[in-house]
Amino acid sequence: MNRTDQINAIKTAKEPWDIVIIGGGASGLGAALDGASRGHKTLLLEKSDFAKGTSSKSTKLIHGGVRYLKQGNIRLVFQALRERGILLKNAPHLVHKMSFIIPVYSWWRLLFYGFGLILYDLLAGKKRIESTVLLSRKKTRTLLPNLNDNHLVGGIAYWDAQFNDTRLAISLARSAVSSGATVINYCSVSSIVKVKGRVCGVIAKDNVSGKEYKIDAKVVLNATGVFSNHIQQMDQPDIKSNIVPSQGTHIVLDQKFMLGNHAVLVPQTFDGRVLFSIPWHDKLLVGTTDYLVDSIEDNPTPMSEEIDYILKTIGEYLKKQPSRKDILSVFSGLRPLVAKKNDKTKDISRNHSIVVSQSGLVSITGGKWTTYRKMAEDAIDIVQSVGEIENRRSKSAEIKLDGFDSSITNKNPLRIYGCFSEDILTIDSSTGNRSLGNNFYLSKNQILWGIREEMAIRLEDILARRSRCLFIDAKETIEIAPKVAKIMAEELAYGQEWVQKELREFKQVAEKYIIN
Ligand SMILES: Cc1cc2nc3c(=O)[nH]c(=O)nc-3n(C[C@H](O)[C@H](O)[C@H](O)COP(=O)(O)OP(=O)(O)OC[C@H]3O[C@@H](n4cnc5c(N)ncnc54)[C@H](O)[C@@H]3O)c2cc1C
Repeated sequence: MNRTDQINAIKTAKEPWDIVIIGGGASGLGAALDGASRGHKTLLLEKSDFAKGTSSKSTKLIHGGVRYLKQGNIRLVFQALRERGILLKNAPHLVHKMSFIIPVYSWWRLLFYGFGLILYDLLAGKKRIESTVLLSRKKTRTLLPNLNDNHLVGGIAYWDAQFNDTRLAISLARSAVSSGATVINYCSVSSIVKVKGRVCGVIAKDNVSGKEYKIDAKVVLNATGVFSNHIQQMDQPDIKSNIVPSQGTHIVLDQKFMLGNHAVLVPQTFDGRVLFSIPWHDKLLVGTTDYLVDSIEDNPTPMSEEIDYILKTIGEYLKKQPSRKDILSVFSGLRPLVAKKNDKTKDISRNHSIVVSQSGLVSITGGKWTTYRKMAEDAIDIVQSVGEIENRRSKSAEIKLDGFDSSITNKNPLRIYGCFSEDILTIDSSTGNRSLGNNFYLSKNQILWGIREEMAIRLEDILARRSRCLFIDAKETIEIAPKVAKIMAEELAYGQEWVQKELREFKQVAEKYIIN
């Protein structure tokens, strides 16, 4: 996946593209793979880096969603459990099963949640990972030694899956390219082109070279998440906004606060939400919140009340209370929920919505990472009915994603590269595999691979999305950033000026991940 080749494909295109997709998050990348694998000439344009938006800020769960079961959204749970099974099969290097424990402090809740989770297993059918089990008080304490056991009655253990969101995004981008798609990061769509009232292309700017392109398309698919209304307004300036951005924040703590390999689900926080504490890269990922916000930003700022809420809620379940100074990293993302303004965000459906404007712009919003493939399939089905494109069936449920390898163990830090991990190790086998960090693994070889094979062009691409350093320990990431920038500059043949600019701009982003 080489950016120059991808840009050349738009420069040399003689015919209109069958499908132009705006947005390189879960929805857009899924659609690029689905469209290209059906044989359609597909182009994806992302204004910054792949998954820079909401798609890098998830709870990292591929799940049916116990919470949606509680809301009675059986259809969404059923669909998501099916997709969970497909992802475990097609991307075992990026998605793995994980056990979750719900600690229970009253007998009737043990029965209530136990019943709900047996239903969850039944909905998964043949795609069930393992069966739900009720745990005694003693067993719960053994599995979760740091759990606050005052009044603890027992627990319920059930199974779901964990994934690496940005790595799945890169794997989808590379899979899409292998299927014939063109995907370009740092390329913004600034307007929609129409002829006789029909959408027939976009104007896009390559943010690296500054060049602008007029791109012809049979159908344009808007997959810009929380920015969806912005694109829709390029088509219909008077359209009313229907996206309710809801901010969700996570904190990362040392794993000593909750030892063990099990995630914990707090099923009912004091304001009726759920909260997860999940083992992640030998740390603990805790979240999330659900706050309605007015403004849409690329890199939203965590709110003080969100941090207090997470610390207070998880603190009640732990023997040792974490405080602000224990937070290694904090990050916020915006859910692109589709709803009426006065709905409470926790009650808004996570189903996806696909709309077609009078002029033929197709927009897909909502949904979850877990259901990205089904969303993409539905979107491309609609795209085919809108444009003069041959009607072909989706094959995406059968496609093994880039890097597919089921033999690598969870302990291997290069597992996320799947079958390419050996190639990375051998780029420079003398010193290239030493980690630059103590609190996470990032090697020179990974940086070189990110540049050569995964279209990483900025310092933040390497530190936040090709690797997850910024999300794991923000302070240490800022410390190693000069070494990483130096390696990148040597590989890309840039000078000191580039290094200084990248460091300055990265620091501005990274400071949002630190709590002082
Ligand atoms: C806090 C939180 C936790 C979550 N946890 C989970 C979870 O554990 N499991 C799960 O299944 N789901 C989870 N989700 C939901 C999931 O993350 C989202 O549904 C999904 O990432 C949305 O992807 P998207 O592609 O629609 O949007 P985005 O990821 O936001 O992608 C849209 C892209 O469009 C680009 N764009 C915008 N304007 C333009 C333009 N003019 N030109 C070109 N590109 C443009 C943006 O830069 C962006 O990259 C979570 C969401 C949040 C907020």
